[in-house]
Amino acid sequence: MKIPYKKFMSDPQKLSYMFNTVLVGCKILFLTLFFAGHMVWMERVEVFNFVLTIVGYVVIRKKMLRLWVFTLYFNIVEFMTLSSIAVGFGFGFQLYTISMITGAYYIKYVGSRFFGDSNIIKPTLVAVCATISYFIGYTFNRIHGPVYKTDSRVETFFFVFNSLLVIAVLVFYMSTFTRTIDGTENKLAKMALVDKLTGLYNRHYLLSRLDGLNKEELSDYWIAILDIDNFKKVNDVYGHNCGDYVLKNIAETARDECSECTVCRWGGEEFIILASSGKCPDSILESLREKISGLHMNFEEQDIHVTVTIGTEKYSPDRNVDAWISEADRKLYFGKNNGKNQVVYVTNVQ
Ligand code: GH3
Ligand code: MG
Ligand code: MG
Repeated sequence: MKIPYKKFMSDPQKLSYMFNTVLVGCKILFLTLFFAGHMVWMERVEVFNFVLTIVGYVVIRKKMLRLWVFTLYFNIVEFMTLSSIAVGFGFGFQLYTISMITGAYYIKYVGSRFFGDSNIIKPTLVAVCATISYFIGYTFNRIHGPVYKTDSRVETFFFVFNSLLVIAVLVFYMSTFTRTIDGTENKLAKMALVDKLTGLYNRHYLLSRLDGLNKEELSDYWIAILDIDNFKKVNDVYGHNCGDYVLKNIAETARDECSECTVCRWGGEEFIILASSGKCPDSILESLREKISGLHMNFEEQDIHVTVTIGTEKYSPDRNVDAWISEADRKLYFGKNNGKNQVVYVTNVQ
């Protein structure tokens, strides 16, 4: 069964099982190296580390993730120091420093982002410990050379293996990190442009869209402002939740009726409809108004009925966007003062 990537990445237990299993694989390989090379005290160290890694499964199962992360890092730092002393820098065990430090910051991010635990690890402490371990191995090798002499082919194999392992871990961390950031940014960008209640674009989207069009491109456009009549009464009589329900219904109707237009929530109970069709907006808006006035909304067994007033204006190059919207608004208020439930599009309304 394929597990969705996002679900897997946000499941701390599954992630921990995956890392623990990679570690078990490495431990088996290293145990083979130390036993084959008769490196007695490294055999003992690695048997201890192997047992620690197996115990890790129990710790993960009990969801003691902080303890697991601690033993994982203890295991790696201790192993990296001792193995560098035992077989020298030529094996590349000290390269783990790089993936350990990157990993610590990654685990901290994932911990606070997905599991609400920002103290799952202390990356600065990890960086300090890993650096100390790195220089202990380096200094020992400079002064004494490695404890065990090994075949150069074995050394080459391990150097290549360790390098690839570290690179793979870095690629995993960085690709997951960038993927998470991309996803978050897209979500935030969408949230900034979409109204949460109705799912329509918001004022910010509309203004930036209009901002991106020049006078020539705008020449075909018309705009309409729609305002729900006596909406305050809906809230007062049926409650705010009912008001929200009505707003959602009106938004849905406007989006369906004006499918070739852009419908935005301008604010409160006002919507803006924008279209570039050379066609006269009158029929579209008139049919929208009729549709809304004929809507039968039912909220908690109460029948709700509302009407809307709409003011519309075609773009004219001698006006800026603000003046254009104000003109449509002026028409809307003309309609409000003259009986409501109507579309006002006559250009000579005073
Ligand atoms: P008119 O016919 O002149 O437009 O009268 P009106 O009552 O519709 O207009 P008014 O501007 O006086 O009232 C608008 C009301 O819309 C006031 C405010 O409480 C309500 N409102 C604004 N945003 C929301 C919202 O998100 N949800 C709900 N339920 N009400 C909202
Ligand atoms: Mg209003
Ligand atoms: Mg109103």
